[in-house]
Amino acid sequence: MATNKKPGNWRRRTQAVRGGQVRTGFQETCEPLIFTAGYAYETADEAEARFKGESPGYQYSRLANPTVTMFEERLAQLEGAPLARATATGMAAVTAVFLAGLKTGDHVVAANALFGSCRYVIETVLPRFGIACTFVEGSDLDAWKAAMRPATKLLFIETPSNPTLSIVDIAAVAKIAEDGGARLIVDNAFASPALQRPMEHGAHIVVHSSTKFIDGQGRALGGAILCHPDFLEENLQQFLRNTGPAISPFNAWLHLKSLETLELRMKQHCDNAARVAEFLAGHKKVTRVLYPFRADHPQHNLARAQMDGGGGVVSFEIEGGKSAVFKCANALELIDISNNLGDSKSLFTHPETTTHQKMTPEARAAGGVTSGLVRLSVGLEDPEDLCEDLEQALKVA
Ligand SMILES: *Cc1c(COP(=O)(O)O)cnc(C)c1O
Repeated sequence: MATNKKPGNWRRRTQAVRGGQVRTGFQETCEPLIFTAGYAYETADEAEARFKGESPGYQYSRLANPTVTMFEERLAQLEGAPLARATATGMAAVTAVFLAGLKTGDHVVAANALFGSCRYVIETVLPRFGIACTFVEGSDLDAWKAAMRPATKLLFIETPSNPTLSIVDIAAVAKIAEDGGARLIVDNAFASPALQRPMEHGAHIVVHSSTKFIDGQGRALGGAILCHPDFLEENLQQFLRNTGPAISPFNAWLHLKSLETLELRMKQHCDNAARVAEFLAGHKKVTRVLYPFRADHPQHNLARAQMDGGGGVVSFEIEGGKSAVFKCANALELIDISNNLGDSKSLFTHPETTTHQKMTPEARAAGGVTSGLVRLSVGLEDPEDLCEDLEQALKVA
């Protein structure tokens, strides 16, 4: 195996294409998909040395795999993070960070506006182990400060959040975490490292669902945790190796190769989303449009300060609540009804009845999930075709 030369000196777009690449003796130009569960040793002595950690090399793909390692190294370079560990899904990453980083008696503070499953882990799973949680309005820095306790170990935000695209000030919340001896985790699935690198703003841990924009074509599940060596050594490493939320080498290979085009794709997602948001803002049946880079977004200055683009998701409210949304959804001829996001195909979601259905009405209200709210993941189609499809569907609503 031969590694690439001088990776540390490359700029981000070069890292996206070449970072972490390792070639086998065949000198293939494309990164190899090493699809294996186990590894053989030349001698029993070598096996012993590897298990003792005295010899480098692989032992078993639950612990590490060469293709997975390439994905981890490339993603870490793009995020400006010291290191990454890939997981089977985004939720495996979120769950592992909490279970590896906390113990009974610890306390977590999280923003209200969260992906439903993240909220479930914090609100339902953690308390079973005696870990308390407090939810705050993400933009209210005084609420973050007031929620901090001596036992607070982890803070968790998603920015932009799902589905209301609210923005949390990463640097300010990271400072509050640090002042309280805690770590800030940022779920960066909506922006991807092409648009936002939370560690540059002081975040201590980043989690990803690579299922979304990193895959970008709705093919495979994956996730990742990015952190510093101290968290890896003290909390994460043994937890991941022994509990086994490992990503398939095949999925890691897809996501590794997807990183090569991530920035190009994100640019187009942003252009398309801005165009669709503009169209929706001018439509009489649309009462509200939420897009981070629009001047009418309540936090657009903050969005511009910490993001390089507004992202590929637009949320909007249709007058007439659920029944109007359903009529519009059922009339779509191009855009698909789906709960996924970050696909090259545009996807229309009604959060209240799908992704956020299991939440209590109070939690939905706190997260801004109203009956008329639609989350539109804007794909890579021609934006004029998307606007025309929305126009004819909104006529029916
Ligand atoms: C999809 C998503 C997750 C969960 O990721 P999976 O890969 O589906 O497990 C977590 N956070 C956010 C913001 C997401 O969009």
